[in-house]
Amino acid sequence: MTTSRIETALAGADQTKAVVLGVGALDLTGAAFRDQLPGKRAVIIADENTWAAAGPGAEESLRAAGVDLDEPVIFPGRPVLFADDAMVERVRDILAGTDAAAVSVGSGSVNDVVKNASDLLGRPYLSVCTAASVDGYTAEGAAITVKGVKSTVPCRAPVAVVVPVDVMAAAPSRLTATGLGDLIEKVPAGADWMVADALGVEPVDWDVWDLVQGPLQDAIADPDGLRRGDTEAVAALSEGLQMSGLAIQVHGTSRPASGAGHYFSHQWEMEGYGRDWAIPLSHGFKVGLGTLAMCALYEIVLGLDLSALDIEGRLQDWPTPEEDRARVEALQPVPVIRESAVRESAGKYLTAEAARKRLETLRRVWPELRFRLGQQLMPASEVEDILRRVGAIHHPSQIGLSLEQLRITYLRAQTIRTRYTVLDTLQEAGLLTSVVDRLFAPGGYWYGRSPEPRWTDES
Ligand SMILES: [Zn+2]
Repeated sequence: MTTSRIETALAGADQTKAVVLGVGALDLTGAAFRDQLPGKRAVIIADENTWAAAGPGAEESLRAAGVDLDEPVIFPGRPVLFADDAMVERVRDILAGTDAAAVSVGSGSVNDVVKNASDLLGRPYLSVCTAASVDGYTAEGAAITVKGVKSTVPCRAPVAVVVPVDVMAAAPSRLTATGLGDLIEKVPAGADWMVADALGVEPVDWDVWDLVQGPLQDAIADPDGLRRGDTEAVAALSEGLQMSGLAIQVHGTSRPASGAGHYFSHQWEMEGYGRDWAIPLSHGFKVGLGTLAMCALYEIVLGLDLSALDIEGRLQDWPTPEEDRARVEALQPVPVIRESAVRESAGKYLTAEAARKRLETLRRVWPELRFRLGQQLMPASEVEDILRRVGAIHHPSQIGLSLEQLRITYLRAQTIRTRYTVLDTLQEAGLLTSVVDRLFAPGGYWYGRSPEPRWTDES
């Protein structure tokens, strides 16, 4: 029970050996565990919500397959489990008291915590997905907040992943909307990778590219079906998400699946934005809004004639490392984010000489690059329509952010990761602030866009 695309991806993955995807896949949990972890005991780790969705079914399947089980570990459903270093230590300590392999039953947070904790003990684990809400199930690395900073902690992916499409289709629709928000970012993220490739910063691995971009359009094609919990639509989204995670595993970094749209989410997450809400603001909701923000920005970028860029003019006031650091510090008022942003930005600082070469390359490649970007990208209005129909966030007002906060996030997002995106191209070309300002000025995408009511789980 899997798909040919997933088989192709698994062939290149060195950690995950099996992805069991389909309606009824929960019943195959025991067989998957026994095949991949023969002779091992199992301990299910879940929270009250995810246990209710799939815990008893997973337990029954494991038992039927003859797997010995510890008592399940079930964390409270409220407040929602937060994936931070303290939680990882807690789960690691629980696992250290048994020789059982963990079976994570849950979505993003539960899986990330169990992944990291298992890896600390050098122990393989199995993941049972309960919602089509993230692409991180099959990814190498876990999204964990470490000492207040949202980080991708290096750790091994699950040895097997069970993707019960019927369980995921029955999950709250906000979780599916979250998954779509995470996946649709692969559109501008792909564009960012193309830019990095064309400028000689980081080559595209086209085999890995196909793993993510191949299933992408099918996966986001039916937002109405996703909102209704239609199993075919959820199966397509789930496949896209698993493929994206496997691509991260094959590539060894999150580059195939994460561009500047993700940095909007990371920035808000590090600011703690929405963390204390009754239902914390999800990764995919933030990423979906970041996707829309980036697609709107790319529309302006595609209208620029960068082949006529005034390189000498730009180099005249090229910042020294100290000036660039001061720029980053001024943008990031929160100390812990500032420290991290200063470090990450220093990692991509260019000397004037290197900048000249970069900008000369940009001038040279721009006509062809612009054409290819135009083929890769989607219009912002189309992204907005998909987000709206699936029930995801598509205006900052829905999560209580002002347009001014969104505007500053474009600038902050450029500073928080060394990984190169189009935000860096604009910064290097001296155009970032003016391009961002155009989005909020008359005629710009965000200008006069009516605020929408605050998002609630009932809306
Ligand atoms: Zn993501």
